[in-house]
Amino acid sequence: MYEKEYLMLPGPTPVPPRVLRALSEPLINHRGPSFKTLIEEVTEGVKYVYQTKNDVLILPSSGTGGMEAAIVNFLSAGDKVLALSIGAFGDRFATIAQTYGCIVDKVDFEWGTAVDLNVVKAKLAADVNKEYKAILVTHNETATGVCNDLKGLSEIRGDHPALILVDSVSGLGVMEVKTDEWGLDVIVTAAQKGFMIPPGVAFVSVSPRAWAAYEKSTAPKFYWDLGSAKKFLEKGQTPVTPAIPQLTGLREALKLFREKGMDYIFAKQLYLRDITRAGAKALGLKMLADDAVASAAVTAVWAPEGIEAKAINKKMREEYNVVLAGGQKKLENKIFRIGHLGYVQHLDILATIGALEMTLKELGYPVELGAGVKAAQEVIMSRKGLL
Ligand SMILES: *Cc1c(COP(=O)(O)O)cnc(C)c1O
Repeated sequence: MYEKEYLMLPGPTPVPPRVLRALSEPLINHRGPSFKTLIEEVTEGVKYVYQTKNDVLILPSSGTGGMEAAIVNFLSAGDKVLALSIGAFGDRFATIAQTYGCIVDKVDFEWGTAVDLNVVKAKLAADVNKEYKAILVTHNETATGVCNDLKGLSEIRGDHPALILVDSVSGLGVMEVKTDEWGLDVIVTAAQKGFMIPPGVAFVSVSPRAWAAYEKSTAPKFYWDLGSAKKFLEKGQTPVTPAIPQLTGLREALKLFREKGMDYIFAKQLYLRDITRAGAKALGLKMLADDAVASAAVTAVWAPEGIEAKAINKKMREEYNVVLAGGQKKLENKIFRIGHLGYVQHLDILATIGALEMTLKELGYPVELGAGVKAAQEVIMSRKGLL
């Protein structure tokens, strides 16, 4: 392609040039000493992002494989689980548990809102025999652009023995997660969102309590067996041939994280969110999520009355080379989503808002050209020096 494309998706996200170069390093023997150094280095680096001393296993899979691993390693058919869903990915987590025969008590919250912790509190209080073996939760619901309060959830769990299993595929490396301090048992994430590398690896952290549950789990597993992954990691290997290029890319992405520090990354992500929302709101557009629960990774915007979201995304892509995501399931053709995680800059968002203004105007929505860009610029200038 000759023209530059703006990949404003909540995954896969753009890959920094340094990481692209690292992806093309020559392949190495995955049973040899260089691989041992590589896997140990990236595992330590991923633990730094997780803020954990727990084990973290790296699997050759997309994020969903990591979610499946979180179910099959720590649960068994017949186990009761509390699944908290605020959107399409929360539904997916519940479905995986159902697929393996768990008895899923699913609580659905309106799409665009976060988990209401009072509801969870009541559910746990009603569970007098402590039957729930796990609570399934999405950290950042990519389908709606809403972030759940993991710290609050952990506090509400208190001394209930249920494990907390977290899908943070689009959250980790974007928004702060203190795995150990917040007592989060299992957290799943994947390469192609905040970690800025191409899809192909997933990460799963495992607390000591979760390992105790692993010993009791009778769910069938082979490819996803984390006990096997842990044994191999102890010798600097993986049970199957790993995605070696993703791991050399990951090593470089983790260096970028370390150079900048995670506080910088988290602050930058919030800043990109605020620029995006200010720009879109100034055009009179409605956000799906309230400010208080808005994701730092992705912003979901309602298409204006009478205009199809798909028409917006089509024009943005075909005429301006800006690639946005659409709505999923019941939000299909109703919202569009702007991803702003990973290797995205404030000026990428200005370009996106500028293209959005022209797109909407051409589709017949009243826009004062420059209004959204101006609001976005004002946020950028107000934070100058901070980043
Ligand atoms: C992207 C995503 C997934 C799925 O990941 P895949 O890599 O497509 O399997 C799961 N959960 C959330 C929250 C996501 O954003």
